[in-house]
Amino acid sequence: MRIQKELYEKYPKLFSAVGTREFVGCTIGPGWFPLVDVLCKLIQNEVDFANEQKKYGNSAGMEQVVVGQIKEKFGGLRFYTNKGGSTQIAGMIQMAEAMSWLICEECGTTKNVKTGGSGRIVTLCNRCRRRMAICNWFSYMMWLVKSRLMAIFGKRK
Ligand SMILES: [Zn+2]
Repeated sequence: MRIQKELYEKYPKLFSAVGTREFVGCTIGPGWFPLVDVLCKLIQNEVDFANEQKKYGNSAGMEQVVVGQIKEKFGGLRFYTNKGGSTQIAGMIQMAEAMSWLICEECGTTKNVKTGGSGRIVTLCNRCRRRMAICNWFSYMMWLVKSRLMAIFGKRK
């Protein structure tokens, strides 16, 4: 998807594993991309700063962080890294993951956002939750019609 590609291109060092087995994927909704964008920016800054300071002997330097997977689990953001990191970076990730509970994964609003749902637990605002319910109902009806038709026409062959 385009939104993912933009993120990978913006932070090539963080996403150097994209296209390899080491990278599982980025499967979050569009509403969380600004949050993940800021997180990536802060992580890359942290790595770059440590390595810049190394030149002056002020830091031991830092291994480049490589992202392994970005996903949603139980309505919250999960940001996994394969390589690199520090206590500070772990704290940044923790902060972003905690913030995701307050942001609609679909539209990015912080108004009327709730984590929950019957079936899959998701973090959505009231509007997106209603819209998703209608979409789910519609695709269920489509599936029902299709399977009925398959049953009828499938037998004739
Ligand atoms: Zn929303």
